[in-house]
This record gives sequence, C-alpha cells and structure tokens, in this order.
Amino acid sequence: CAKDLGCSTFQFYTQEMNSVSLQRLILETHLRKAFEKEEFFLHYQPQIDCVTNRIIGLEALARWNNPELGLVSPGSFIPLAEETGLIIALDRWVLATVCKQLEAWQAAGIPLVRVAVNLSARHFLKANLNKTIQQIRSRGAAARDHLDLEITEGMLMENAEEVVSVLGMLQETGVNISIDDFGTGYSSLSYLTRLPFHTLKIDRSFISQSGDNVESASVVTAIIALAHSLGKEVVAEGVETSTQLQFLKENGCRVIQGYLFSRPLPEDKIRELLREGRIPGAVEPVREHGR
Ligand code: C2E
Ligand code: MG
Ligand code: MG
Ligand code: MG
Repeated sequence: CAKDLGCSTFQFYTQEMNSVSLQRLILETHLRKAFEKEEFFLHYQPQIDCVTNRIIGLEALARWNNPELGLVSPGSFIPLAEETGLIIALDRWVLATVCKQLEAWQAAGIPLVRVAVNLSARHFLKANLNKTIQQIRSRGAAARDHLDLEITEGMLMENAEEVVSVLGMLQETGVNISIDDFGTGYSSLSYLTRLPFHTLKIDRSFISQSGDNVESASVVTAIIALAHSLGKEVVAEGVETSTQLQFLKENGCRVIQGYLFSRPLPEDKIRELLREGRIPGAVEPVREHGR
C-alpha cells in the first residue's frame, strides 16, 4: 500500500544518507591520519614551451594512497580537506616537499624549472598566510627562486582588498604568482590590473571545448589577448589534442600543460625528463611550407 511504500522509501532514503555520511566520516578519519602515516605524495605535470618544446615548469599535484581505500582522487579528498581545514596543513606539506625536492634536484645537478604549488582559498586569512610566507622565506634561493604559487580565480572576488594586499606580500617573497582556472570566476578587468601576479592559466573547460564551441574558442583568444596586453604570461591547461595545440599556437599561447604532452608523473620520471629538458615524442610533425 501507499503507506508502506512511503515508509520503505523513507527507510531507503535514510539508509542512503547514512551510508553517504558514513563514507564521508571514514574518509575524514583516514585523511586526518594520513599525515602521520605519510600517505601523501606528489606527482608533477610538465609545462611546455610549445615553440621550443622545452619543459619550462611543473605543477605539483597532491596524491593520496591509503592502504584501505587505495588511491583516492584529488576530486574527493581536496574538497574534504577544504571543508575540514586540513587543506592548510596539506598545502604546507606540499610547499615544504617541493622546496626539498628543488634542493635535492639542484644537489644532483638537475636543471631546475619553476614548480607550481596550489594554495587553497583558506590561505587568504592573514594568520594562515603569514606562517606560509615565513615558511617560504626560511628556504634557500634554489627553492624561493623557482616557486610558483597558484591561486584560483574564484577566490579573488571573495575579499578583494585583502587579496590585493596578500598577493603583494606573496610577491615580495620573490615567488611567481599564477591565477588558476582563469575564465571561470568573475574578476573585473579594473580589479585585475591592480593585482600583483605573473601568469594566467586558462581553465581546462574552455580548452576542451575550443574545437567545437565558438564561444569557448572566443574566451580562449580573449584571455590570451588580455594576458598579453597586461604583460602577463599565459598557460593553457588541459590540452589533449593536436587540434587544440594548433589553435593555441596560432593565437600566441606559448605555454601548454596537458595530457597531449604529459600526464602528471612521479618524481623519478620527472627527474629523467628534466635531465632531457624536453618531452620526447610530443613534437608535432612539422609541415613544411610550399608542399
Ligand atoms: P588544478 O590546480 O587546476 O590542476 C590541474 C588538474 O587538471 C589536475 O588534476 C591535472 O591532472 C588535470 N589535468 C591536466 N591536464 C589535463 C588534461 O589534458 N586532461 C584532463 N582531463 N585533465 C588534465 P588533479 O591532479 O586531479 O587535481 C585536481 C585539482 O585538485 C587541482 O586542479 C587543484 O585544484 C586541486 N589540487 C591538487 N593538488 C592540490 C594541492 O596540493 N593543494 C590544493 N589546495 N589543491 C590541490
Ligand atoms: Mg593548479
Ligand atoms: Mg587549473
Ligand atoms: Mg582546476
């Protein structure tokens, strides 16, 4: 009967709710212990100058391997780390690990490139940021001169005045500042001109649609033109096809990050690539003119 049906639907619903919140609780419990158990590690994704095909930078991306849960995707643990505030500790761990890695590469005679670290919006509370800035200042020049801090565009609008001053403080440490996922937020042009930063990273969603969506293609060319007119570097994120690469090249975007060149890789693979200086096999066959 309808009553029974309602009842069982309700039961099903609450059971489902319980299992979702239970799963979340399990994930959170493991996440809290992940630091002491040293379950985090980093992958690095190359950024390529598509004119010379040289590796000019890397992005450090957090990975979490838990013995019970297996490899958990950043799409699930980063939002949870944000909610619980654990992201501050995670970002600091990434920052420290990248600094140590840069020092180790330097000691091994490996040519250094800049390495990007993602900073959560939570760092924009001054108390959190001061400690992070001290952490950067306490490192040697090898690390400081090669750090690139990525801040998502979304967070820029949340506390405009504070963001201007915080980015200023970061810039004084000598690090590169990149605005990540650009095009998805709503920063105004006048605001953008007041912000201290070096690089705009075009969000992957526009790149992936640039082939079959005129609007996305227009957004991409507009961002490239904007970056250039502001005297900033522009990086295209999530480039997967040679058509996308060709489009970006034709429109003057020089730095490319995406699966077409390389997925994020473990340190030993990256070390080999840095020794080589370029990505083997990613070079598009050059079409000679007049043929
Ligand atoms: P993000 O900072 O925008 O990083 C780029 C993401 O795009 C990475 O996903 C990368 O693997 C992926 N990607 C790069 N090229 C391609 C491509 O050609 N195709 C496709 N489909 N994907 C591509 P990942 O590693 O899963 O990280 C997802 C997000 O999690 C990052 O987006 C970043 O917002 C966040 N994240 C990762 N590590 C950290 C961290 O240490 N701290 C903070 N605060 N956030 C992090
Ligand atoms: Mg990023
Ligand atoms: Mg991004
Ligand atoms: Mg992203």
